[in-house]
Amino acid sequence: MKDLFNIEGKIALITGSSRGIGFVLAKGFCEAGATVILNGTSEESLNTSVAILKDAGYNAFGYAFDVTNEEEVIRNVAWIEEHIGAISILINNAGIHRRAPLEQMTLTEWKTVIDTDLNSAFIVSQAVAKYMINRKYGRIINITSLNAEGARLSIANYCAAKGGLKMFTKSMATEWGKYNILTNAIGPGYFSTDLTKVLEEDPKFDAWVKSEVPLQRWGKTEELIGSAIFLSSEAASYINGHTLYVDGGWQACL
Ligand code: NDP
Repeated sequence: MKDLFNIEGKIALITGSSRGIGFVLAKGFCEAGATVILNGTSEESLNTSVAILKDAGYNAFGYAFDVTNEEEVIRNVAWIEEHIGAISILINNAGIHRRAPLEQMTLTEWKTVIDTDLNSAFIVSQAVAKYMINRKYGRIINITSLNAEGARLSIANYCAAKGGLKMFTKSMATEWGKYNILTNAIGPGYFSTDLTKVLEEDPKFDAWVKSEVPLQRWGKTEELIGSAIFLSSEAASYINGHTLYVDGGWQACL
């Protein structure tokens, strides 16, 4: 029973983990005994984050690559597999916003978000699954959002990407289950990070979050660690294609 949630010794690649939710998950996975590969596009910010974990004595490595660039992804995944070891957990976490009212949203703003928040999961998952399929073992977690279920103003690109990612999670679960690769998603509510800073600093939005969420507060990024460890562990060995919302009860109320 004590081993049910054990991820010790596993190698986890977490995309977009130089900051925000990804970094907190990376730290949580390190504390749970996993070896963690951090990623981001800014080498400088990635190096700083990896150094924090290494200085704390953890097995952490950083690889700067753009998750939307297929060639870079395939090359880096191959390098990690050869030089660090078998990636058994992949968390597709990298994500961005480009906010604009729909009638003013440029095609570039639309495509950039679809590329980063949706197409990247296809690119990285396919690159990593190649190895997982050979080993007949893998755990993939896609970080979606409440906006996979409900839209809000000025983020049509993000809603389309996260809604797509929710369904892509089910497709991966359907196609790769036979290889013992479990694919699930975590749908965070509102958590305080760089991505949501603009919302948190808006008193109206902040008050809206606190009045709408049954727990009456923003989520703390640390509150996502348990779900990610659960979905990566043997405790979740028959859970495949599910989205676990970590939202303080938002989905539960109208
Ligand atoms: P942050 O903006 O704090 O961090 C984003 C991370 O993604 C950074 O490490 C960034 O590194 C990296 N990143 C961005 N683009 C790329 C790219 N093309 N290739 C590789 N890495 C990239 O975001 P959050 O931590 O808030 O969000 C993480 C995930 O959680 C996202 O998918 C987001 O949609 C989702 N989410 C967040 C919520 C929240 O309340 N914060 C709510 C619901 C979902 P760099 O800048 O160096 O590229």
